[in-house]
Amino acid sequence: MVSMGLKKYGNEIGLRVIDGSICGKYRGFFIRMYDGMGFKKVELKFSPLSADLLLKLDTYITSVKQGFRILSYTIGASGLSMNIHDTVGTMDVIKKLLNEFIDFFEANEITPLDLCGICGQNIETDEAFAFRGDSTIIGHRACLEKEEEKTPEKEIEELKKSYGMGYFGAFLGMIVGIIPWILISLAGFVAGVAGLILSAAIKIGYEKLGGKNGKPKITAIILFTVLGVLAAFFITTTISIYQTFAQEGITFLEALELTPYNLSLAATDPDIASYIAQNLGLGFLFAALGSWSFIVQAYKDTKAQTEKPIVHTI
Ligand SMILES: [Zn+2]
Repeated sequence: MVSMGLKKYGNEIGLRVIDGSICGKYRGFFIRMYDGMGFKKVELKFSPLSADLLLKLDTYITSVKQGFRILSYTIGASGLSMNIHDTVGTMDVIKKLLNEFIDFFEANEITPLDLCGICGQNIETDEAFAFRGDSTIIGHRACLEKEEEKTPEKEIEELKKSYGMGYFGAFLGMIVGIIPWILISLAGFVAGVAGLILSAAIKIGYEKLGGKNGKPKITAIILFTVLGVLAAFFITTTISIYQTFAQEGITFLEALELTPYNLSLAATDPDIASYIAQNLGLGFLFAALGSWSFIVQAYKDTKAQTEKPIVHTI
């Protein structure tokens, strides 16, 4: 988050607002600042320090800590980050702090960071930065863009997954998911919750059997939901045919054979046509409503997976 005061000051010294922080270079040093709960965070980047300089910097901070309202600070390999207690007049404190710190840097030959945080080489051209939560990495644009954020564990887990197993899982999920649909239909309802159960079962089946995230997952959810609606409709129709002719000694298998024929009568029988239209229409509507959130989630997962880390030019 960036407050008005921070934003105004950032503008004055030529910093930009990016993702809730103000950042850029001031007197040659990269700075990032943002508002926390009751504090303002100030991050300053510089080239790695010798042990002597590190100690000197630490001693300096300890001596000015109180005056600059520094609640806590961390000196890292490529910079310094401080939490400044946020009360009245904090912006004046920060303005003074930045200038005095940079004066101290200059007096002690602490230089702006010019090494890439990824490859470790000098940055001459293509300088960029990226946020990793609370910390900032400075480096070559190309290095930052190709940097994989995935942990090795995550990567192995992802490698073990496959689309084939996902589709098999989605198929099993569909079989399980149409059972409540059929029961609800037999009770005389066409309920929206049936669509939700069906698509949830498909999604869970896909994931449980190790289905991979990606566009084929979206296809699997849609495909098996459509197939599930058709299958549930076919089976409920068969059951109602069986119930109608049960006294005449029809077997369930015979009813199953009769179903396609009965449905094909829709071409000439408006009652059957409207039965099909009504049941399938509502069925698809409920299935669409039920699966919508899962499709959106699968889309987001796919996007997150293929998205490059966000890199900004200094
Ligand atoms: Zn690099």
